[in-house]
Amino acid sequence: MKILSVNCGSSSLKFQMYEMPEEKVLISGVFERIGIEGSFYTIKINGEKIKKEVELKDHKVAFEILIDELKSNQVVKFLDEIKGIGHRVVQGGAYFDKTVVVDEDVIAKIDELSALAPLHNPAAIVGIRAAQEVVPNAVQTVVFDTAFHQTMEEETYLYAVPYEWYTDYKVRRYGAHGTSHKYVALRANEILGRMNTKLITCHIGNGASISAVKDGKCVNTSMGLTPNAGLIMGSRCGDIDATIVPYIMEKTKMSPKEMDTALNKQSGLLGISGVSSDSRDIEEGIHKGNERCLLAQKMYVRRIIDYIAKYYVELEGCDAIIFTAGVGENSASTRREVMDGLKVLGVIADPDSNNVRGKETLITTSDSKIPCYIIPTDEELMIARDTYALV
Ligand code: ADP
Repeated sequence: MKILSVNCGSSSLKFQMYEMPEEKVLISGVFERIGIEGSFYTIKINGEKIKKEVELKDHKVAFEILIDELKSNQVVKFLDEIKGIGHRVVQGGAYFDKTVVVDEDVIAKIDELSALAPLHNPAAIVGIRAAQEVVPNAVQTVVFDTAFHQTMEEETYLYAVPYEWYTDYKVRRYGAHGTSHKYVALRANEILGRMNTKLITCHIGNGASISAVKDGKCVNTSMGLTPNAGLIMGSRCGDIDATIVPYIMEKTKMSPKEMDTALNKQSGLLGISGVSSDSRDIEEGIHKGNERCLLAQKMYVRRIIDYIAKYYVELEGCDAIIFTAGVGENSASTRREVMDGLKVLGVIADPDSNNVRGKETLITTSDSKIPCYIIPTDEELMIARDTYALV
């Protein structure tokens, strides 16, 4: 059965087509700069990558081209072969604790939650509508980044602010990257050979979050009402004293929007280093002796260690620590620094096996009290699995 995974951003559409249940990727690709000058798309099929420059007026046009490519590359002969299309949605609020089939009520709820994910939820709706028009007979599903975190207890997801902020404005911790945390936790359980595990999953990319997962269920996660909580990220500040916000707004006369930009786009590794939000550039800066890059890296690693330590206590132990996403899969030095900072918990890094990129690997020695693994994430596959199950 053919299942399509779709991830729509405000100006992009990423896709991956699977043969299920074999989980074989048939074709994948990304449309970029939708609605902007200079739009193009790239597709990958049979190990070959093709780039085409073409005007992409909107997501519907991108979908139509996508379908044409599926046909011309003989991935499908008829549209009806596509039985399911799974869409990634960033914010599902408290409404959704699992993947669901799309109907008008679901779309209305995603729309209502747009205030919490202004860049992402509206784009997802555009993508769903486009897919419905172009492939009307496929079952459309929505897979939420927040769903995996809905198992957190009230005492964990509430903030100690006036309770009415929660009841009136839905202010609480929702988390993000849930599909990724769930995927790597499932895989870790397969590696460990049991389900009753205590895992700490570290999704460290440009955006970054850590989850505590007990028996396959999320008990805590570092992102909050929005993704700008918890870890220091590429350009997001993560946890700060909330009172900094009104203090600086008063001092500089910044508007709420400008403050939002400063905290999300000008902070984190970029804010401290003044060089870049990309950890590759930070590593290069450190090699060149840039003190602020070194400072940014120290703060970044410190925060990761702090969260792992917190979740270790909360879980009352830990059976495995997982590293995934851009930095987690690729930066041997960041992983090494984090593991070295966890020596007190009995973590012993294996420098040889840690010297690897993007490959499922055990990166601690056999006498390490907690094994650490790299597990490359695969959110698209998770979306395809959920969609296949619902079809
Ligand atoms: P997101 O999905 O949040 O945009 P990714 O998970 O794709 O982010 O991670 C992107 C980040 O991964 C880059 O900004 C960079 O910091 C980091 N990264 C990618 N490759 C490497 C590498 N070889 N070494 C260090 N960091 C890397």
